[in-house]
Amino acid sequence: MYAIVDCNNFYASCERVFNPALHHTPIVILSNNDGCIIARSNEAKALGIDMGGPFYQVKDLLEQHGVAVFSSNYNLYGDMSRRVMRMLYDFCPDGFTQYSIDEGFLNLEGMGSPEELHQRCLKLAKDIGKGTGIPVTVGLASTKTLAKVASKFGKKHKGYQGCCMIDTEEKRQKALKLFPVGDVWGVGWRNKDKLAYHGVKTAWDFTQKSEAWVRKMMHVTGVRTWKELQGIDCVNIEELPHKESICTSRSFQGEGLSELEDVEEAIANFAASCVRKLKEQHTCCSAMTVFAHTSRFRTDLPASYLYRTLSFQVPTNDLQEIVSTAVKALRREWKAGKYYYKKGGVIVWDICRDDAIQTALFDPIDRSKQAALSKAIDEINRKNGHNMVRVAVQGYSKSWHLKSEYLSKQYTTNLRDIIQVNASSSVPADKESAPQPSSPVDGAKDASRLHNPDCHPEG
Ligand SMILES: [Mg+2]
Repeated sequence: MYAIVDCNNFYASCERVFNPALHHTPIVILSNNDGCIIARSNEAKALGIDMGGPFYQVKDLLEQHGVAVFSSNYNLYGDMSRRVMRMLYDFCPDGFTQYSIDEGFLNLEGMGSPEELHQRCLKLAKDIGKGTGIPVTVGLASTKTLAKVASKFGKKHKGYQGCCMIDTEEKRQKALKLFPVGDVWGVGWRNKDKLAYHGVKTAWDFTQKSEAWVRKMMHVTGVRTWKELQGIDCVNIEELPHKESICTSRSFQGEGLSELEDVEEAIANFAASCVRKLKEQHTCCSAMTVFAHTSRFRTDLPASYLYRTLSFQVPTNDLQEIVSTAVKALRREWKAGKYYYKKGGVIVWDICRDDAIQTALFDPIDRSKQAALSKAIDEINRKNGHNMVRVAVQGYSKSWHLKSEYLSKQYTTNLRDIIQVNASSSVPADKESAPQPSSPVDGAKDASRLHNPDCHPEG
């Protein structure tokens, strides 16, 4: 079973925590420089206030209805997010993955029967509400996409008390028949119109199409969504569609990382990966959160949980700016002493389109110059492989890299790994005296020991 835990109207809820008078008041949050509306409470949504609309156009309307207006307070939202995520991490340290600034997934495999999990998640939702002041909704199901469907029902209907579970075939069918296909994760508005043209209106209609049909219409990602809706678990969290935020995180191998330099390098690379994703979808971000934590299972080692949010004056997808801000955030949080960080990540959030940016009058960065440099770097990297030109702090050591103890050599892409044939040897091949590995695994280990850590596939 998977659970997705999603904060309800997150920014508005953060504002309410420290101002209870706002509890039934409609709230809107404005983007950087108070340009557009980027978040609304349910009451504001009910008034028909549009997402993304320019503030000055609706200012009178907001006043008329007594709507509370806030500039975005990224430090507050970042810290409230830290508190919620910390509780999720404590609930299920091994299965927790932060997905966005206000959502986290829990892989609850082996943690009990569906009914037990339902009870525990009901309590979790209550505990988070009590502990942080932020209301959350939990969606529980056998796949991540179905869990997300469940969470939407959980938000809509108060009767679920913050936790909705799809655990039977009957519930699955009922839920999908009531669920508009355009709201399914990974479908998107473009596909929605295409699907509507073919008479596919609900998620259920979608699942009734053949795999070949789905593949033709929406390629392999569509097929994955189609399978997930039928209860077949096949989507990685990394591959899930991102809208409001992008998160790149990883577990570090072995004991973990204890040196600032190593963690810095990892964080810099995660930030660079976020930049790549931002650019792919033609977007910029206004805020960034950097986190790293030690393993909770190692009670013999001191524990540390770093979490820092910084904001950008002007929305950006500039590599240097984002990487240097990430490193700065990490350095501010870094604690002296020996801590072994097992996991780290970068989330960029408050994302907007890159062609609709609100600039600042006193912006210290020369944006046009920076854009030209950025374009040149992208061009070089496009031709020669990504990360060819990189920010120095990204380094080459990759001590933080994915676990790859059993990695074979890079025979075709790295000169050092090219197979060598010793022509002068007079020993026949079948009597070769080189020590043979005792098992295939040992052999792979030997290969990885010879493997040069400086190699990088991109190069
Ligand atoms: Mg949310």
